[in-house]
Order: sequence, then structure tokens, then C-alpha cells
Amino acid sequence: MPQPSWKVNEIFYSVQGEGKHTGMPAVFVRLAGCRMNCPFCDTKYAAREGVETDAKQLLARLAAWPAKAVIITGGEPAEQNLPALIAALKDAGYEVHIETNGSIDADVSRADFVCVSPKKYVSPAMLKKADVIKIVVGQDTDLEDLRKYYAYENAKTQIYLQPESNKQENIDLCVKLLKNHPSARLSLQTHKLANIR
Ligand code: SF4
Repeated sequence: MPQPSWKVNEIFYSVQGEGKHTGMPAVFVRLAGCRMNCPFCDTKYAAREGVETDAKQLLARLAAWPAKAVIITGGEPAEQNLPALIAALKDAGYEVHIETNGSIDADVSRADFVCVSPKKYVSPAMLKKADVIKIVVGQDTDLEDLRKYYAYENAKTQIYLQPESNKQENIDLCVKLLKNHPSARLSLQTHKLANIR
């Protein structure tokens, strides 16, 4: 039987810069491809280029670093065989975090942490599986539409508001929204502020 493989754009060791696990060293596995084509996308390069990589090749790369946490991001990871990738990493003893736009209802049941960042379309089923719903907020954000995500908050799922591109007007808007909805949290892209790579 052919072994699964994934089109990988890049693999690098860094520190999680945003969201609930800010400050955590982790290996980032960025899968290639995303059909969403958001105008503010800061990883457009990942939509095009990737190298076909199987589990053996991937695990050999990860072994170079001491971290046991892997963040699968993109692009959009669920456009590829995400359950098989999670399984390969979990079977090798890694803590697995997923960053997804949630547009595809994928089996992420073996992942340790799931962050869904909704864009033009999101699957309600994926919102229910999220540990964190991370909403990018900019001047064009429909604030009425944003509030519908608050309905998914519960003991497992937390809302984070992340200012688009760390712009001050977007930070100010997030702070205003948070003050009216204090169970949510602010997510700054600290890796950009601190120039961490
Ligand atoms: S969903 Fe994410 S990766 Fe895809 S285009 Fe939008 S911002 Fe970029």
C-alpha cells in the first residue's frame, strides 16, 4: 500500500508567536496550498510551492530539534490528508497542534490542540472541534457577523481576537471589542513585533 505523503512548503523551528501558546518553542510544518485566497494573507508563498514529503522524511527532519511540539499550519492543512499526518506525528510521540481556517470538516480527533481561524467560509462542525477560535479583525471586519462566533464559546473553546497585521487601528478595535466581551482574549502576532523567525 502506498505510504501517505504531504506537499510541504517549509519546516522550521521557532517560537509560537500568537494565540494561547504564545512563547512555546515548536517545530512548524507548513503545508502547501490554500484555496481561500484572503487579501491579507501573510503566507501567500505557501499557496503555491511545496515538496512531496512522507512520514519518514518528515520525522527525520523533526529529529534535528529538541522540541516535542509540532504546529501543523499552512496554507490550509485540511486540504491534504491531515488525519494521516496527525497520526504519524502522534505515533512518534509528538504533541500536535493544528492551525486551520476550518473550511473543511477534517478528523482532528487525535490532535492535542486545534485552532480554527475562520475566513470567508467555515464549517460549523470544525468550530465545535476548536480549542481556540481565532478571529482576525481589521477595519473591513463585519462586527455583527463576528459576534456569531461567540455562540461557540464553552469550557473547551475560547475566542481570541487578533488584530490584522498588528496595525494600531486594528489593535484598538480588538481592545474595544474585548472590553464588551471580556471572556475573549487578545492575540498579538508577537513574532512579528519581536522579529522572531
Ligand atoms: S485561509 Fe489563511 S493561509 Fe489561506 S489564504 Fe487565508 S490567510 Fe492565507
